[in-house]
Amino acid sequence: PATATLKALDLAHHLHPFTDHGELRQEGGARVIASAQGCHLTDTDGQRLLDGMGGLWCVNIGYGRRELAEVAARQMNELPYYNSFFKTTMPETVLLAEELAALTPEGLNRVFFSNSGSEANDTNIRIARSYWQKRGEPQRTVIVSRKLAYHGSTIAAASLTGLESMHDIPGVPIPDIVHAPAPFWWANGGDLSADEFGIEAARGLEETIRAVGPERVAAFIGEPVQGAGGVIVPPATYWAEVQRICRKYGILLIVDEVICGFGRTGRWFGSQTFDIAPDIMTIAKGMSSGYLPISASVVHDAVAEVVFDAPGRFPHGYTYSGHPVAAAVARENIAIMKREGIVDYVGDDIGPYFQERLATLLDHPLVGEVRGVGLMAAVELTRDKTGRAPVEPVGSMATPVRNACFENGLVTRAVRDCLVFSPPLVITRAEVDELVAILRRSIDQAL
Ligand code: PLP
Repeated sequence: PATATLKALDLAHHLHPFTDHGELRQEGGARVIASAQGCHLTDTDGQRLLDGMGGLWCVNIGYGRRELAEVAARQMNELPYYNSFFKTTMPETVLLAEELAALTPEGLNRVFFSNSGSEANDTNIRIARSYWQKRGEPQRTVIVSRKLAYHGSTIAAASLTGLESMHDIPGVPIPDIVHAPAPFWWANGGDLSADEFGIEAARGLEETIRAVGPERVAAFIGEPVQGAGGVIVPPATYWAEVQRICRKYGILLIVDEVICGFGRTGRWFGSQTFDIAPDIMTIAKGMSSGYLPISASVVHDAVAEVVFDAPGRFPHGYTYSGHPVAAAVARENIAIMKREGIVDYVGDDIGPYFQERLATLLDHPLVGEVRGVGLMAAVELTRDKTGRAPVEPVGSMATPVRNACFENGLVTRAVRDCLVFSPPLVITRAEVDELVAILRRSIDQAL
């Protein structure tokens, strides 16, 4: 069908996530993405877009990898589906679990599969609560999350999420989920240095725990770098202090690596970049580079022994947990990342280059901060570089710039008044230069 037909049908029948449908209609409908290769998308009008977001922070090895398509086809023919509910398993699922145990930090050796980051985080809530129940402390049910966190869209994951708009629909947050401050120096650091503020933000977590009563807290969940909240890179002092506080109160630490995992920060996991020792890790997105849905909770031996090795069963799972085709694709994705040295490329070469090139925008009068690590970054727009006053109305700077970028052939995303980036990890220096040039031009056009 012609583009106009697809757009009309889309408006008539397709309900888009996180979209104002009135606005979409006014703008004449959605852009139809037809194909992609490397870091570029092509729409049905034949126009190319540099994908500065790697889809939704997930297409780590880039588009158009035939190896993944071939592995998927082979596995579809061999065994398209089976499950592991009733004492059965599948080769690809087993081998992926082994691979994940080897890749993730010390002690994380047991893997529970889900299909999305949201589902894996729901699973993690149940693992953490089950752990305390089985340890004889069933009153430990509270999960501490943070403001500006994004942990997903199911009722429980949306409850963990600390973005206010996610709580607009009644019924969220569910009980026993509380939110501590975000370590967001640009917005909240005041006169403190970043390092001082890192300690203060961690102390905010301690205050939240004490207000609830530590004996009621099951776990703290956090992204190494808050992604959808605006690529909030915590000050260097933050994570050590958070871990000290979790240990002090005996609280489980769930690290949500859905964005940071699989090379995004320049190591396999953000936990390695920020020296975090998780009890449970959430992984998804980059695990399969988004080619098929798959996610997992990677569980520390000490937690798994209590929850899964005790008598009785863990009453939880999804039809597609450990799906053999998704598992085969994830395994091949990881194999490609290893073969091509993609994580070192991000850590030692393209990540530093990307951050350095983006930082050249700091000479622009409307750019307040450029923050990031590896291949995730945010460019904070402001009319008050020194005072860091919030932009009013919120979004009035970043949204037009985002739209101009889109017109100029670059996909980025506006979060409040910053533009966030998470390109495929295989982006080249020339493509980084293209991204930064389009962004600068779009700021000048839009503002
Ligand atoms: N956790 C984090 C850190 C995320 O960024 C996301 C999605 O963006 C999720 C969880 C939810 O993942 P999904 O959309 O696959 O449910």
